[in-house]
Amino acid sequence: MHPRLATDLAALPDLLEATRLRATEILDRLPDQPVVPPLRLPAPEPLPEEGAGLAGALAEFTDTWAPLLSASAGPRYLGFVTGGVTPAALAGDWLTAAADQNPASALDDAAPELERRTIGWLRDLFGLDTAYQGAFVSGATMSNTVGLAIAREWLGERRGVDVAQDGVAALGRVRVLSGSSHSSIAKGLSMLGLGRTALVQVPVLQGREAVDPAALGRALTQVDGPCVVVANAGTVNTVDFDDLRAIAALRERHDFWLHVDAAFGGFTALSPDHADLVAGLGAADSICIDLHKWMNVPYDSAVQFTRRPDLQVRVFRNAAAYLGPLGEIPDFVDLTPENSRRWRALAAWFTLRAYGRDGHREIVQRNIACAQALGEAIEAMPGLRLLAPVRLNVVCFTLAENPTAERLAGLADELKDEAFLTPTTYAGAPALRAAFSNWRTTETDVHRLTEALQTRLAKL
Ligand SMILES: *Cc1c(COP(=O)(O)O)cnc(C)c1O
Repeated sequence: MHPRLATDLAALPDLLEATRLRATEILDRLPDQPVVPPLRLPAPEPLPEEGAGLAGALAEFTDTWAPLLSASAGPRYLGFVTGGVTPAALAGDWLTAAADQNPASALDDAAPELERRTIGWLRDLFGLDTAYQGAFVSGATMSNTVGLAIAREWLGERRGVDVAQDGVAALGRVRVLSGSSHSSIAKGLSMLGLGRTALVQVPVLQGREAVDPAALGRALTQVDGPCVVVANAGTVNTVDFDDLRAIAALRERHDFWLHVDAAFGGFTALSPDHADLVAGLGAADSICIDLHKWMNVPYDSAVQFTRRPDLQVRVFRNAAAYLGPLGEIPDFVDLTPENSRRWRALAAWFTLRAYGRDGHREIVQRNIACAQALGEAIEAMPGLRLLAPVRLNVVCFTLAENPTAERLAGLADELKDEAFLTPTTYAGAPALRAAFSNWRTTETDVHRLTEALQTRLAKL
């Protein structure tokens, strides 16, 4: 063994303790460090010929890179839709690396079984019945892509073509209908060989991001034969929800695969006041839900569900003598694009075991309350204007006067010490979004952001 490795192995308990202390420092700083610190990058260095040992690497990381990191795990990083990491999820993630399991194949049993049971818990959390099978993937983009891949196979089944075997060219033209789909849908269609232009944008309801079910019905009439509908349960700008039950009812007259992108909106199932928004989720053929957003597990983690694992296996089957035959219960290697991968379920298992449905419900409800409080504060500020009602956990707003993209970017930049907000365009207007999905955020953070907004606005 290399002497550096041998020394680190001998000192492992102390080194891990030192690492734990550095991690604690990072976490302790989160509420008060600049949310996005100025970027002063160190000069690149050549690949080290001689290593520094773990202690040396830790010291360099702590001094050079840690101070440059954003507080993206903290309470006022409100850009995109960014969760943090609950204490139990963090512990689960550390132990994931320590145990270093590869849950791809059932030849090594316990790790995949914990994944299956965690998926069972998640199914319950989102109110889905046991007809749904699931698998862990790296994020909602991958979850949407897997759902669309199964949809592609289903279209083949309808048209008498085996797409997995004969390729997408055998399928012919495909139509994917959606109101306000996330950018990852077009990316998924590109990856799957269906092409970005397969996506047909269906009109949305007046002043909303939710699809107009009547317009969807008309669009379906114009499509020749079976197609795919992507319903959106939680849009990123204004957290709007398609009427899932109305969409599902269109199946009486039209033949389509229903994929629901509920990346973060799926968590409304936890809030009794909002659960109705996703009550129709169980009509979907495939479902995407992110876990590194509102479940507050570390990157990267999402789950995908489907009721047609048979089609899924046709797409993702990884046949090799050394992996064994296809069993009654498919291995994860036969269900998603990856072969080997990390034991993603453990962080989710830890946080669900530690806080339960009730604990995760409290996070969701508190985040919604924070968004509502910020929405009310913004409405009361003469310099700002809400662009949409605060339906859930995102506040979408703009400047009351002269709302150019430049001025909004200036405002966001001025706020960076206190909070991180991301720009968008909504209803043709440049805007800013504040998205609440971190388990640590409280009304005190909303108050700090409101004060910061007031001060910066006065100087704008
Ligand atoms: C975040 C998001 C995605 C993409 O998620 P990643 O985890 O970043 O791949 C897809 N759809 C919706 C609605 C999202 O909010």
